[in-house]
Amino acid sequence: MTVKTKTKTETRDMFVGGKWVQSRSGAVREILDPADGALLARVPESGREDAAAAIDSARAAFDDGPWRKVTAQDRGKFLFRIAEGLRAEAKKLAELETRSCGKPLAEAEFDVADAANCFEFYGGLATKLHGETMQVPANSLSFVLREPVGVCGQIIPWNYPLLMAAWKLAPALAAGNVCVLKPSELTPLTALELARVIEAVGLPPGVVNVVTGPGAGAGEELASSRKVDKVAFTGGTATGRRIMAAATSNLKKISLELGGKNPNIVFADADLEMAVDGALFGAFANQGEVCSAGSRLLVQRPLHRRLVDAMLKKVPRIKLGHGLEPGVKMGPLVSGAHREKVEAYIKIGREEGAKLLCGGKRPAGAAFAKGFFLEPTIFDEVKPSMRIAREEIFGPVLAVIAFDDEEEAVRIANDTEYGLAAAVWTKDVTRALRVVGQLRAGITWVNTYHPSHNEMPWGGYKASGIGRELGLHGIEGYLETKQVNVNLDETPIGWY
Ligand code: NDP
Repeated sequence: MTVKTKTKTETRDMFVGGKWVQSRSGAVREILDPADGALLARVPESGREDAAAAIDSARAAFDDGPWRKVTAQDRGKFLFRIAEGLRAEAKKLAELETRSCGKPLAEAEFDVADAANCFEFYGGLATKLHGETMQVPANSLSFVLREPVGVCGQIIPWNYPLLMAAWKLAPALAAGNVCVLKPSELTPLTALELARVIEAVGLPPGVVNVVTGPGAGAGEELASSRKVDKVAFTGGTATGRRIMAAATSNLKKISLELGGKNPNIVFADADLEMAVDGALFGAFANQGEVCSAGSRLLVQRPLHRRLVDAMLKKVPRIKLGHGLEPGVKMGPLVSGAHREKVEAYIKIGREEGAKLLCGGKRPAGAAFAKGFFLEPTIFDEVKPSMRIAREEIFGPVLAVIAFDDEEEAVRIANDTEYGLAAAVWTKDVTRALRVVGQLRAGITWVNTYHPSHNEMPWGGYKASGIGRELGLHGIEGYLETKQVNVNLDETPIGWY
């Protein structure tokens, strides 16, 4: 099947202060389908001054607008309506997501549903935020209030454009904040659609702003502006470090969701069929462009050969193609530059002496000629010291490492600067829990890989980030804590 591409190419506006606007410079960027190079839309290419204007709109909405007086009940209802709006447009949004970032349609459909659920979860949570009272030594009624942080700059990547927007906006709005969201310059279209849904539910102007454009400029302004109270970022670790440094301008609050080099540990007693599925899905879902991808497969030696052979038998089932084509399980990488980065790692893996079992090249054929496709790639005989075992590749490249015993597995698993996710496959529940207890990672799985829930906290240990998103923990980073002490003693203190 050939995927038909719309011939009419729109020039889109971005959403600032409740209005749809172009960039001040008039510059635009072409957004291309990474599967076939088709032009999807033109969007404003904003710079620092556009981000600054959006920050001003947000600042005014927070400091002077009606938003602060909107009750928690009504904030919750806004979020429920956003969830409904996303569901009403689910088909269109999923197709647009697939065209924008390449992922197979089934994955994009899942993302849209999950984004709607995220708004619903935080819509419900808006009315459950509460402070506390404490017994204090003085004759005082002392209590704690939770209040919004204020203006939140939110910077998101290209691998889950709509879902990451939901993860950022939903908790922030539930807590009563205002937001300036900057999607990746490569994939801004579903965030702009989300802005349309948000506009339709009637949030006051300036409460949500979506600025399209590059990190260098618009993103830097969000990270460094003194008018921004909090910056929330998902993306690469190197960028996270830069954002953290920029955020020191006014010591703004910060949350970082960064990379990973996640160990997927299979013990010899694991269910082979389940482990094979989990290893492939962990490594190749979303083309491996996932911060929590199981990119290091640690296999206990007695199972090593059988597991690898079983994986190789299944790899041909990973059909490559345009994500809108029925049956496609892996789309293109997000850009030519990113594919080159991943290919450079494949070259490094070969030079380091790892054994290439499959993939490692671009698929042949006219259907792939205009897209950034790369075959699912598995390296065996990988040593923990190799760069392909240590650095985040962020593509469909799996490194298989054999181990002898539990102690060695834990040591290899933790021998990384990252600490985002990890999984353990075994039928021995005691071992599973013992190993999970030793893994230095914020997200862990037993006998599964990748399921993630809006109700559960998401984030990393070590260089994988700061803070948590999602769940009850996810709203913490969007709340300030204020103590209030009411003197119940009517006599002067008589200190002087
Ligand atoms: P980046 O970390 O560079 O991009 C993420 C977001 O940050 C984008 O919106 C980007 O803008 C923005 N940004 C970039 N530089 C700055 C800056 N100095 N100040 C403020 N914002 C900035 O990811 P890339 O897209 O370049 O990918 C690089 C690597 O990062 C990947 O190969 C992968 O290893 C990792 N990555 C990790 C992700 C994760 O979920 N943990 C997600 C994406 C990437 P723009 O791109 O528009 O210029």
